[in-house]
Amino acid sequence: DLNSHYRDFLDLRDIFIAVKTTRKYHKSRLQLLSQTWVSRAKEQTFIFTDGEDKELRLKAGLNIINTNCSAAHTRQALCCKMSVEYDKFIESQKKWFCHVDDDNYVILPSLLELLSSYSHTQDVYLGRPSLDHPIEAAERVKSDGSVSVKFWFATGGAGFCISRGLALKMSPWASLGNFITTAEKIRLPDDCTIGYIIEALLEVPLTHTGLFHSHLENLQRLPAENILRQVTLSYGGFENRRNVVSVGGAFSLAEDPTRFKTVHCKLYPDTEWCPRKTRH
Ligand code: UDP
Ligand code: MN
Repeated sequence: DLNSHYRDFLDLRDIFIAVKTTRKYHKSRLQLLSQTWVSRAKEQTFIFTDGEDKELRLKAGLNIINTNCSAAHTRQALCCKMSVEYDKFIESQKKWFCHVDDDNYVILPSLLELLSSYSHTQDVYLGRPSLDHPIEAAERVKSDGSVSVKFWFATGGAGFCISRGLALKMSPWASLGNFITTAEKIRLPDDCTIGYIIEALLEVPLTHTGLFHSHLENLQRLPAENILRQVTLSYGGFENRRNVVSVGGAFSLAEDPTRFKTVHCKLYPDTEWCPRKTRH
């Protein structure tokens, strides 16, 4: 087969990265992202939020999408955002859809390398399973809810990616408001609903990967020498401030409590605000 001789040389511009956020996190979370990894992927990163913020909009080159979804932390509001993310991706014509939260750092070179080993025309759903077993839910889409379905889903808080080929097949249950209807039928959160559509309805298995990380894990346990090879990182919230990746370098824990700036300076030492190595 002639095609197999050509590697699908993927470019960062082929990836659509959706960041889910909310008005109250624009300052505390988004600012850090726009200073770090988002600054290296401005054209393909889209920020999905729920409130107008002129200051944020003025920031050069950020793609901000006001979803007009409610700012409440409810299943409906979160599924509303995911549904807009999906529609914008389909519109974008890009090859890969990746979703992350606003407390994720995306290591762009690792993401590019990971996706390069798959084809966007095939059915690919990549992420970290949320549980160590498949979730079980009443089947209310294909049947009346008297039978149950078991399926894996990728935890949204660690980020996940879907190929365009697969995303197009999700359309009957995901596009133009159908995502919200599907989520309401099975009464599960946005990331579970994605898993339900892909694994249960389309029968495409989740490709389990340990390269995506959420703050549900103990991030301190990630070996320091492997950190830059991961695809996403995160940090513990209010209750768990010390759950961060253990990386030393440019900034102290007080200066960089999330460790995102330190990781960023390791990846891109030429960044203007990264400390220069002293030359003698
Ligand atoms: N989020 C949101 N609306 C809300 C609260 C949170 O869109 O009302 C987003 C938030 O910006 C983040 C994700 O949902 O991208 C997860 O929120 P958080 O990290 O606060 O909670 P977690 O579920 O990770 O504990
Ligand atoms: Mn979180």
